[in-house]
Amino acid sequence: MDCIFCRIVRKEAPARMVYEDEAFVAFHDIRPKAPVHVLVVPKAHVEKLSDYPDTEEGEKALGALFRTANRVARSLGLPGYKLTVHVGEEGGQEVFHVHVHVMGWPR
Ligand code: 5GP
Repeated sequence: MDCIFCRIVRKEAPARMVYEDEAFVAFHDIRPKAPVHVLVVPKAHVEKLSDYPDTEEGEKALGALFRTANRVARSLGLPGYKLTVHVGEEGGQEVFHVHVHVMGWPR
């Protein structure tokens, strides 16, 4: 499996990392659409957000993902930001490894 975000997680592909813990990484988007544009990515490969099960386990995974997005935005000192998730090809998803876009406009 040749997933670019898995390769970034494994440090086999370069990325401008801004955050890492045991379950997530965050790095600058290669084609930023805002002055600050970071992607928050779970280390475990899950193709898309809708693949998380509608269970307590899925709820925990979703909670952890958005908690981390908030944490990353806070660490970047963003006074306000936009979180976006593209789900599936029809939803505009291009990279099939779950990620949250954190887009912000520093003061
Ligand atoms: P999607 O449409 O799947 O939600 O967005 C994928 C995002 O990943 C795009 O904004 C795109 O610019 C970014 N991206 C794609 N390939 C790479 C890469 O190799 N490195 C980084 N840092 N970002 C990437």
